[in-house]
Formats: sequence, C-alpha cells, structure tokens
Amino acid sequence: MKKKLIILGIETSCDDTAVSIIRNTKVLSNIILHQKIHKKYGGVVPELAARYHDKNIYFAVNKAIVVSKINKYQIDAVSFTLGPGLIGSLLIGASFAKSFSIGLKIPLISVNHIRAHILTHFINDANINNKIPKFPFLCLMISGGHTQIILVDDFFKMKILGSTLDNPVGETLDKIARIFGFSYPGGPILDFFSKNGNSQKFIFSKPLVNGLNFSFSGFKSQVIQFIKNETKKDSFFIKKNLSDLCASVQKIIAEILLEKIKKATLKTKIFRIVLAGGVSANNEIRRLFLLQKKKNKKWEIFLLKKKYTTDNGAMIAIAGLLKYKQHLFSTIDVTSYSKFKKF
Ligand code: AMP
Ligand code: MG
Repeated sequence: MKKKLIILGIETSCDDTAVSIIRNTKVLSNIILHQKIHKKYGGVVPELAARYHDKNIYFAVNKAIVVSKINKYQIDAVSFTLGPGLIGSLLIGASFAKSFSIGLKIPLISVNHIRAHILTHFINDANINNKIPKFPFLCLMISGGHTQIILVDDFFKMKILGSTLDNPVGETLDKIARIFGFSYPGGPILDFFSKNGNSQKFIFSKPLVNGLNFSFSGFKSQVIQFIKNETKKDSFFIKKNLSDLCASVQKIIAEILLEKIKKATLKTKIFRIVLAGGVSANNEIRRLFLLQKKKNKKWEIFLLKKKYTTDNGAMIAIAGLLKYKQHLFSTIDVTSYSKFKKF
C-alpha cells in the first residue's frame, strides 16, 4: 500500500492565522486563530493583521501538530498561501513555511488562495453530503475579497469566466451590514437577522452587467443612500425594519449570483455547480441554489460545511497534497503576490 502523505497547510492571506495538518484527504487538525482586533476598525487593518500573524503563527503550527497527534518529523511537505492577499500577512506565512521546509528538509509547496478555496471540495468530509464533484464543473467563488465564476476542468486547469468589476460580494455585504450597525464582518450577522425578515418589503434594483461579470458598487450605494434618506425622516428606521432590510438585501444578492450562474450554465452546458468562499455560508444563497436544483434536475449543487467556506488551513493543505502528487514543488526564491494575476 502507498504511504499516506502528511501535509502541513499555512494560510495567512488576510486576518485569520489558519494552520491545518491532513493525512491524505483526511483532516487531522484545523486551527484558526481569528484576529478580533479588526472589529473595532470596521475592516481589516493590514499592518495589524501582519503583526498578529507574526504573534500567532508559531503557536498555531505547534497546536496543529499536537492536535494531530504526530511529531513534526512525520510531516512530508509544507504548503502555504503565496497570494493573492495582504502582502505583509502573506510574508509571515511564506517566511515560516520556507524556514520549516529548510529546517526539516521537506518540500515547499506554494498555493494560490483562490484555487485552494475551490479544492476544499476534495477534502474527505468537507461537503455537506459527503460528495466530491466530478470534472468539469463551474465554481462560484464568493468571499470577502473575490467574486468569480470559474470553469474548472481539472485540479490545475481553471479558467475565470467572469469577475466583479468593482466590489466583491462579501465586502459589499460587510459595508451594508456596517450601516445597519453590525460589527465586522457583518455578513453572517446580516444572515442571522434575515431569518425572520420579509424579503419582499424593500425592493432594490439589480445592476445590469453584460456577460458573466458582476458589479456591486451601484447596489451598495443604492442601499446605503436609501438608508440615509429614510433615517433622516425617522431616526429609528433601521431599528424598526432591521430583519426586513437584511432579508431584502440578502435576497437581491442571492438572485444576482444565481442569475449569473444560470447564464454560465447555458454558455458552457455545464450544470455541475460548486460554491466556495465565506459568502457561500449564506443561508439564502444556499436555499436559492438548492431550489434551482429542484426545479431543474440537470443541476448538481456542491456546498461545503460552513467551517470550510471561510479561509482555513485545510484548503491550503489539500491544494498542497494535490500539487505534491504531481511533483509541483516550489523553490525558496518563490515570491508572494498581493493581486490575483492568473492561475
Ligand atoms: P472569506 O473571505 O472567504 O474568508 O470570507 C469572509 C467573508 O464571508 C466576509 O465578507 C463575511 O461577511 C462573509 N460571510 C461569512 N459568512 C456569511 C454568511 N452566513 N452570509 C453572508 N456572508 C458571510
Ligand atoms: Mg479567502
């Protein structure tokens, strides 16, 4: 029998210090140290994020090793996020991974953060129904920093079919949530308050964007302006309508995403849809996509357990494992990048 590979995955692209160890596709540990410091600023402060990664990384790696009940000499390779992300934060993970690789004389594997979000679906128990998607599939990648429709032909053959032209969907939700008085990140809180809301109460218009691209800045301004106007007339407007406002905003966002994916299915004739990224934890988006699958039997929907939707170390480890199997190793001079270029 082939030896099972043990991979350490390090994710430090934004504000979570996340470290995981996997044995083949099984997760042994998945440590996430959330940086609460950003809450009081209403968004991630890059310099503080880097400082806290530096503070946390050693502890997080050690904890992952202890929880996995292994010793560090059993680790076969170390993978880490190369980009995109905040450069100061990325450099902490990269430096740690490079030192670890040299110190233990094990391969170094750099990973693209977006690709890793998609490959999360190949972790043993990540899917809500324990299903793994077959190729090809369309991935709707929706997170705090990204909004893309990606055609996935293979683990390492991916093509972006559409992207946001301005704000990512997660950032849009977080900014609107801030107006409602929610702390950062407001997306999950908005989701929570939507539960008992009437999503038909407030009607906002949808952006008209050709092809498979998205735009959220006009929608965001429309909602924020509406709230400002109504609050001028009645200072308790938000308080009186909170659940209905949240539900109405969430419904439009979910509809925009579904309409674009429908377009992509018609263009590609691929009806296997995979959702990834933090925003894919949203209950209304999940409900609407599962409803579409009920309406059209050709559709297949793949959803992740919520802990695997946002940034985590296991997604970096699984991407590392798949690269290891194809001998796609990195050299020590590999450089981090903040902006997404290509896969
Ligand atoms: P990521 O960038 O993948 O780590 O995801 C973080 C983003 O996901 C933030 O913008 C969050 O507000 C958003 N998010 C997380 N959970 C939810 C949810 N249940 N509904 C809407 N947005 C969410
Ligand atoms: Mg992410």
